Amino acid sequence: MIRGQIKFRCSVCGTTFEGLDLEWMGTVFTTPQRCIQCGSMHTYPKGVLDFINKSAYRKIWQVIDQRETGLPNGDK
Ligand SMILES: [Zn+2]
Repeated sequence: MIRGQIKFRCSVCGTTFEGLDLEWMGTVFTTPQRCIQCGSMHTYPKGVLDFINKSAYRKIWQVIDQRETGLPNGDK
């Protein structure tokens, strides 16, 4: 489900960019979008809750990393 356009921040290079607000697997979280600057998927919605978001998104990044490297993650 697409909820509109929001700003993301990259945790790797610090770039802020606009992207689609897509639901992360049926949760309130937003699916990280690929950084336009460095190509990292370690991005999160920018906002006043930056710090809280960042710790919550570490788990999501782990799942994405496992998908990208093709390592088994128990879902297949
Ligand atoms: Zn980046």
